[in-house]
Amino acid sequence: MTTSSRFYRDMTAWLPLFLECTRIFVAMTTARGKLRPHRALTSNMPNWSIIGQEHITSALGRSMARGEMAHAFIIAGPPQSGKSTLALDIARALNCTGEDPPCGQCRSCQRIARGLHTDVEVATMTPHPETGRMRTVIAIDQVRALEQRAALGPYEGRMLVFILDPAEKLHDEAANALLKTLEEPPPRVTLLLLTGSDQDLLPTVRSRCQRLELRPLSQEAIARQLREEHSVAPEDATLLARLSGGRLGWALAAARDPKVLEARQGGLEELLELLDQGLERRFQVAQELAGRFARDRAIVLETLALWLGWWRDVLVVRQGAPQLAANTDWLASLEERAGRYTPQQACTVAQELLATMERLEANVNTRLALDALMLALPRG
Ligand SMILES: [Zn+2]
Repeated sequence: MTTSSRFYRDMTAWLPLFLECTRIFVAMTTARGKLRPHRALTSNMPNWSIIGQEHITSALGRSMARGEMAHAFIIAGPPQSGKSTLALDIARALNCTGEDPPCGQCRSCQRIARGLHTDVEVATMTPHPETGRMRTVIAIDQVRALEQRAALGPYEGRMLVFILDPAEKLHDEAANALLKTLEEPPPRVTLLLLTGSDQDLLPTVRSRCQRLELRPLSQEAIARQLREEHSVAPEDATLLARLSGGRLGWALAAARDPKVLEARQGGLEELLELLDQGLERRFQVAQELAGRFARDRAIVLETLALWLGWWRDVLVVRQGAPQLAANTDWLASLEERAGRYTPQQACTVAQELLATMERLEANVNTRLALDALMLALPRG
């Protein structure tokens, strides 16, 4: 199972309510023990900016104390789950001159936090130097530039840190070039590969990195952060925490930018419209989604995750537990729809959505996977 779909399976810790869906129930309970959302509300590593990922920060703290830090990490998690925050935390910790790294107070920590440190470099998708058009991959020339810079070592700090984001967008040629640096890393260089889909990385790249996987935060942890650290009104904080799927970054973005909730509204309206449509329109939408996927995978996976959340809510409402619904602002519509489907039907759709996300992340034929999903949606 891929990182993102595992994360979304985590979100669906609602299955004990649906014992009749035995097939999913069995599959999910086997996964629940190790995948349940992380519930810690406070950090035992108070200087790290990342919240609720003590399984990572404690282990990194111990490795650093022993002087046994890996030279390359994969930081895996869905969009807006904290990958960049953790990467900058690691960069700060590696270069911190304070007593309790990352102290957040020393010059190094502060320069990294402000994006001014010359030893923290980010390779991402940038406009092509000649055409000016935005590239869809991290290209070989970017990796070559990285290698040249790596050979020079850190200028002002202790460790030169490269952040590749998103690493699954490394062009094959670029990934192969990167292998050389991963196999024989120059001293005082650390590579951080951020990805929502580490199955898309070359196995040879994966095997040379230590993997850090972000866990979804509990709703309480997210709501508390929004209220206490970002002055979000309690009612809004509760709704956003419910909708976030355990991703603090999403909740913060939604609190700051109304477009995030508008996109969610549009995605749910699209789903409801689809349910009322015949196959011709559904296949049209599948084609549109496939086009969108070619341009930006994350947007389509986000839409499918949104639909999955809606079907999960149909199930809880159908079972007479509307207080467990995430989309509380859609309760009237959920109640109306819940009357139309059997729990088995809703379970089947939820399972099909998860399978579609896994298929898309595994690079199967996009159009075929989306057409199959359209066939699985009930009518009405
Ligand atoms: Zn510091």
